[in-house]
Amino acid sequence: MQIDLTQLPEGSTRLEMDLEPGSIGITPEDAVVEGPLGLKLHLDRRGDEIWIRGKIHAVAREECSRCLVEYPETLDLEFDVFCAKVQNPNVVSPRAVDEEDGGVHFHDGRVLSIDEEIREAVILGLPMKPLCKESCAGLCPRCGEDRNEGPCRCARAAAG
Ligand SMILES: [Zn+2]
Ligand SMILES: [Zn+2]
Repeated sequence: MQIDLTQLPEGSTRLEMDLEPGSIGITPEDAVVEGPLGLKLHLDRRGDEIWIRGKIHAVAREECSRCLVEYPETLDLEFDVFCAKVQNPNVVSPRAVDEEDGGVHFHDGRVLSIDEEIREAVILGLPMKPLCKESCAGLCPRCGEDRNEGPCRCARAAAG
C-alpha cells in the first residue's frame, strides 16, 4: 500500500481501502487473517509532516488457549504514525526510532508506505491468551475432554 505524496493535499484527507494481508507482509505465522483487512486512514498533512491515524478491521483465526478450538477473533484496532521527510538519506536511517512514545516514519517526499506499521498493529492487536468465549470451560487437565460440551468423564465418575 503506497500513498502518493505528490497527490496528497495539505490538511485533512480520508482514505479507505481493503488490503490483502499478504500484500502488507502479514504471513500465516504472524496471523491467519480471513479476508481482506479493512483500513480507514485519516491523514493530516502539514508540509512534509504527516500525522496518520488509522483504524483496522479484520478477522483473525485464533486457537482458544483453553479448549484449543479454532474460532474467528474480530479485531478493531487503532494506530497512529507520525511521518516526516528524511533530511539526509546518507545520515539518517530510513526508519529511525524515537523514544518510548513511538517511532517516526521517514519518507522521501514522494511516496509513503506504512505497511510495516499496519502489520505491527495487527500483530500487537492479537490477544495474548485467545479465548473462544470469556466463559470457556476449557479442557479437563485430567482426561482432556472439552468441558464446554458437558461434564467430562472425571466429573461424571465423581457424580457416580
Ligand atoms: Zn475455548
Ligand atoms: Zn476430566
